[in-house]
Amino acid sequence: MIRVGTRFTVSPPFAIPTPLILVLQAGADRAARDRIVRRVEELGFRASPVEGASPPVLCVLGADGRTDPSLFRALPGVERVIPLGKPYPLVSRESRRGDAAVAVRDLRIGAGSFVTIAGPCAVEDRETTFAIARAVRDAGAAVLRGGAFKPRSSPYAFRGLGEEGLRILAEAGGEFGLAVVTEVMEARDVGLVSRYADLLQVGSRNMQNYALLAEVGRSGKPVLLKRGMAATIEDLLLSAEHVAEAGGRDVILCERGVRGFDDATRNLLDLAAVPALKRLTPLPVIVDPSHATGRAELVAPMAKAAVCAGADGVMIEVHPAPDRAKSDGRQALLPEAFAALLRDLGPLVALEGKTLAEPSRVRA
Ligand code: PEP
Ligand code: MN
Repeated sequence: MIRVGTRFTVSPPFAIPTPLILVLQAGADRAARDRIVRRVEELGFRASPVEGASPPVLCVLGADGRTDPSLFRALPGVERVIPLGKPYPLVSRESRRGDAAVAVRDLRIGAGSFVTIAGPCAVEDRETTFAIARAVRDAGAAVLRGGAFKPRSSPYAFRGLGEEGLRILAEAGGEFGLAVVTEVMEARDVGLVSRYADLLQVGSRNMQNYALLAEVGRSGKPVLLKRGMAATIEDLLLSAEHVAEAGGRDVILCERGVRGFDDATRNLLDLAAVPALKRLTPLPVIVDPSHATGRAELVAPMAKAAVCAGADGVMIEVHPAPDRAKSDGRQALLPEAFAALLRDLGPLVALEGKTLAEPSRVRA
């Protein structure tokens, strides 16, 4: 019997992805490894080397319950064949040694470096965006957020400024020395959004849009992948695997709350998902307490709790006039409240043994 994921158990020979780990002989050099990779490919599979492993390890992609492990055991230089037991080999803990740090422009996110992402829900106009960028930069944020393509529950709600919004966001980021993140909703927009954004956001509603996941994976940009509101932790990791399989190994995961039964909060923040994910994957995990709670007064306590749960960052919505915001005003922090929150987060981040990710260039 092979356990697939965490939810159910199957017996071979079903066509269920069953990645295999090949442990190579201790002395295997690069040439020996490349020979084995070629043999695995000749057998109709793909092989991905595990970074930093000693003895060297390869992960066989494309194997399923019908694949005979002895095919690989027979290859010269292979010491052992182990079923991974998880269907997301490229983003599993076993895929590398230690935690992954994702580079976003000159920032390192993860592996001990904590990031604060902040900005409006949506880019509304140039003046407001610049005012927010200045405020969050002064408070110590490292990345500016803001939606130009907004997924809205109602077709009558503000859906963003499109390319004009991207331009304003990128200019505000440039002016204040902040990297920028913004959502891309459709595969056909990935090229456009990539021209302006340092980090591509895939939103909750699109977590299982596999065409979009593949396109952002091919873009060469790092990806911020938000958990679907009805997605399990395994679903989230499988979506990250889609991005990685398409070539996008730099993925940051974001817990943003799941649908609960109680409308006292917008969503139910699943903080246990943070340490649970970190046991399963080396990828950085951040928390969005704004969309998770939907209420400004709950954002600071949940942001602090996120740091203590082991998050590698937080993403927070900020607006100077929440009652006039075109979207999500109810959950937006005033700039002063955001600055006060960051002052509180500093010692907690240090307590967790992490340092704040900060832009290295001279600030405007
Ligand atoms: C957002 O962060 O702009 C957003 C729309 O959030 P989510 O996809 O988590 O709803
Ligand atoms: Mn929002």
